[in-house]
Amino acid sequence: MRASARDLLSRVFGYDRFRGQQEAIVEHTIGGGDSLVLMPTGGGKSLCYQIPALVRPGAGIVVSPLIALMRDQVAGLVQAGVQAACLNSTLDYGAVLDIEARLRAGAIDLLYVAPERLLGERTLALLDEVDIALFAIDEAHCVSQWGHDFRPEYLELSVLHERFPAVPRIALTATADEQTRREIRERLELRDARVFIAGFDRPNIRYRVVPKQSPRDQLARLLDTEHRREAGIVYCLSRRRVEETADWLRERGVDAHPYHAGRGAREREAAQDAFVRGEGVVIVATIAFGMGIDKPDVRFVAHLDLPKSLEAYYQETGRAGRDGLPATAWMAYGLQDVITLRQMVDGSEADDARKRLEIRKLDAMLGYCELTTCRRQTLLAYFGETLEEPCGNCDNCLDPPASWDATEAAQQALSCVYRTGQRFGVAYVVDVLRGKDHERIRRFRHDRLSTFGIGADLDVGQWRSVIRQLVARGLLRVDVEKYGSLQLTAAARPVLRGEATVELRRDALPARRTRRGGEAPARVQAVLGDGDQALFDALRAQRRALAEQQGVPPYVIFHDASLIEMAARRPASLAEFAAVAGVGATKLERYGETFLEIIRAHTIEEPVPAPGGAGP
Ligand code: ADP
Ligand code: ZN
Repeated sequence: MRASARDLLSRVFGYDRFRGQQEAIVEHTIGGGDSLVLMPTGGGKSLCYQIPALVRPGAGIVVSPLIALMRDQVAGLVQAGVQAACLNSTLDYGAVLDIEARLRAGAIDLLYVAPERLLGERTLALLDEVDIALFAIDEAHCVSQWGHDFRPEYLELSVLHERFPAVPRIALTATADEQTRREIRERLELRDARVFIAGFDRPNIRYRVVPKQSPRDQLARLLDTEHRREAGIVYCLSRRRVEETADWLRERGVDAHPYHAGRGAREREAAQDAFVRGEGVVIVATIAFGMGIDKPDVRFVAHLDLPKSLEAYYQETGRAGRDGLPATAWMAYGLQDVITLRQMVDGSEADDARKRLEIRKLDAMLGYCELTTCRRQTLLAYFGETLEEPCGNCDNCLDPPASWDATEAAQQALSCVYRTGQRFGVAYVVDVLRGKDHERIRRFRHDRLSTFGIGADLDVGQWRSVIRQLVARGLLRVDVEKYGSLQLTAAARPVLRGEATVELRRDALPARRTRRGGEAPARVQAVLGDGDQALFDALRAQRRALAEQQGVPPYVIFHDASLIEMAARRPASLAEFAAVAGVGATKLERYGETFLEIIRAHTIEEPVPAPGGAGP
């Protein structure tokens, strides 16, 4: 049995070795043990249950919350030659009967089922009759009532343990926090399960946060310079902003689709479909979009508004670059984000304990935005992991930000807030600092204050940056009930008294923003030379044609990573083609000749030096 897991890995999936803890998880499951697997998006969770399902007798039953996800996973497995099917509410009765018959005949290795379907008596009775290899509970964090993916049906999955005590269960999620982990173990009766925690780093994602100036233009520049015609997700907080941003991108020629809960189910599905099946489609969405999107070649995730917590941020950005190729997590962040989110937290119906938790999470998020040191180190530390060295693949590592001694500016701002009575918002305070002559200031006699005009040497943008950072660090708070007025906190006192200094990040100024030194764009195709690029495009066109013929997403035929490897290594025979990662026996047989032909044609047209040795 032991050898066959590895054998299946290469024969069916086309990979030569397991990654990280995959092998340990696979063996544990084959041996009949229960487990809880915490692995980041793109870490390779699927193989952890797919391979044991193929090794153990009977069918592996996979519980998955989203129909679209199920469908695409099944399509991918069928491409690899696996007997896979799904049971969900979209099937007609005939199709259901057919799947049931195949299951009884032992002709299904992996069956994907929606939780409500699985829990129906008809399905449970069917499962009583057949051999079950394992239960895999995907997206297991859906049991968490605190998380935003909560699915009440997931709570009832504990019945599996009672009804099928001998069948191993494996729960999987990319949500790592302690609370969620505990809830999964309790609610799914997995207290004795072995827990596998993979490292949460996503080294191929480049994290960047830019001060928000004109967010759409900034986004456009990102797309134009680094992600032209590549797939990506743009997150916005409100539905209106989603619609406006999508319209605006479309006007600029980007194939952008809006997605939020206010759109009809049909429209949402169409947008998701376009995204998954197309190449270079951009989804503009609220957080309603994303779970269950398995698309491996999402090249960027952009946030035009600040997420509520680092957990949410990490989950959302984690949708980029599942295939391991370079990807970008980009966010534009400004003072208004801080104010809006504080308002949302304060105005929520939650009880005090919950509110305090939300505030703590928001503070961690703000701290991350204002960092001047490696972002990855901070992110990982937040999730309990240590990264010894700065990562070299975030904006702060690549282009270290300048900081400045802002003690005096901070004192001026804080004292201006104090002297104007802690009753005014940012715009007003900045006007007083800059000595602006307007009627309202005169009416309140604030033109007579000692702080009036003391900050004329900084412009409005610089003052907003100072105040944003003071709020982010908790020296100032924004009182939401009083129209966003700024107020001092206890932490401001030592600064006002001259007992503490304040070092602030110098935001990139608009003038410098066009070309910032060290940061070269992280492009996927940078690994390909010009000649290889033409071949890559031809391989992609072939893949697209095949995908359209079969009505499946292109990536289930081959991932970009496989096509890039083909273009770079140019296999000349079926045996060499089989060595490309992601090419298993079934795909070799189905597609090998077709793709080899394209490679040959390109290699004759423009001869290149023969690729060096064959080894991987
Ligand atoms: P997750 O569900 O954890 O987000 P997936 O199971 O979708 O991740 O796997 C992410 C990507 O990694 C997929 O493209 C998959 O084919 C690839 N992958 C998984 N395991 C391996 C492996 N052992 N070797 C090479 N690629 C792998
Ligand atoms: Zn870094």
